Amino acid sequence: MIGHTVGDLDLLSIVSPVYNEERHIDEFIDRCLAVARRCPVGQFEIVLVDDGSQDRSRDRILSKAADHPGLVRLVELSRNFGQQPAYHAGLSSARGDIVVTLDSDLQDPPETIIGLVEKLKDGFDIVYARRVSARGSGRWGASGHTGLKALGAFVFHRLMSRVRTHQIPADVGEFRCMRRRVVEHLLNFSESMVFLPGLVAYVGFRTGFHDYVRQRRSDRAPTTVRGLVMRAVDALTTFSITPIVLFLAIAAAAWVVPLLIGVVLVAQAVFARRQPSLMALAVLASAVAWCVTLSALAVVAHYVGRIFIEVKRRPRYIVKEGAEKPDVAAER
Ligand code: UDP
Ligand code: MG
Repeated sequence: MIGHTVGDLDLLSIVSPVYNEERHIDEFIDRCLAVARRCPVGQFEIVLVDDGSQDRSRDRILSKAADHPGLVRLVELSRNFGQQPAYHAGLSSARGDIVVTLDSDLQDPPETIIGLVEKLKDGFDIVYARRVSARGSGRWGASGHTGLKALGAFVFHRLMSRVRTHQIPADVGEFRCMRRRVVEHLLNFSESMVFLPGLVAYVGFRTGFHDYVRQRRSDRAPTTVRGLVMRAVDALTTFSITPIVLFLAIAAAAWVVPLLIGVVLVAQAVFARRQPSLMALAVLASAVAWCVTLSALAVVAHYVGRIFIEVKRRPRYIVKEGAEKPDVAAER
């Protein structure tokens, strides 16, 4: 059983995915090492997942691992799988009682880790690093991006925090600190397309926040605008059936059109004693046909949505405390 305090015996794992980050990786590792030494934990490890980098990131990590045996570890993926699978690989390999995840491009300053770990002491199971805007960073500033990417990140975060089921807090990314039991639950999800912020929200437990200012990248990010859009679409569709529910609502609303046409035609027939024209009847018939088709599609989509949820085989619930069966003999 893992305790609720951050203790001197705890092992801290810092997990980070790396894709073509040779320019930042040395500084990233050095800053993580310095920070981990100042954290209120017993031991630490830094787990770096090379997500099929084409530059010299892997070599840089290996040389750091040789300089700091047991403290810096490389997990090397066979090719580029993307940020989310890379994070998952890192979580699977991490052994820590406390696990911190963050990007390796220095947009998430490693020094923030201390605040996250200390906040766990207040009895939280998950502490998110929440992005707050830096002074003068512009309207959509908190993501650390500029221009179109910044606007996209802003819209995405607002959208994701509003979709049904379990809410993902706004302005949080992959930078967070979790207790072992949260990580174990995350690793228990069997779905192959993972979106970790959604799964963390699904897992629940006591959640806290620690504010930080996300930094801008000094060079081109490995993820392009197209990559970010794909990541956002994946996040939305792997996690939520809200688009289907929206479709159901549109299909229901569409019935207003034939209904209105019908009411007008009946009113004309009753009050003005005017026979509906053949044209009007044809329009009504086609409106009804469209609505029937749309509704049928919406119903099918709804069932597909249910299947989508079922195939994920997610745990129905997660118990926080009191799952152990009491010993009956001992109670007597
Ligand atoms: N990353 C990765 N695989 C990829 C793309 C990115 O492991 O295919 C890593 C990257 O090295 C960085 C983190 O994921 O540590 C976030 O990537 P990026 O900075 O491009 O994303 P953003 O900051 O825009 O969310
Ligand atoms: Mg980045």
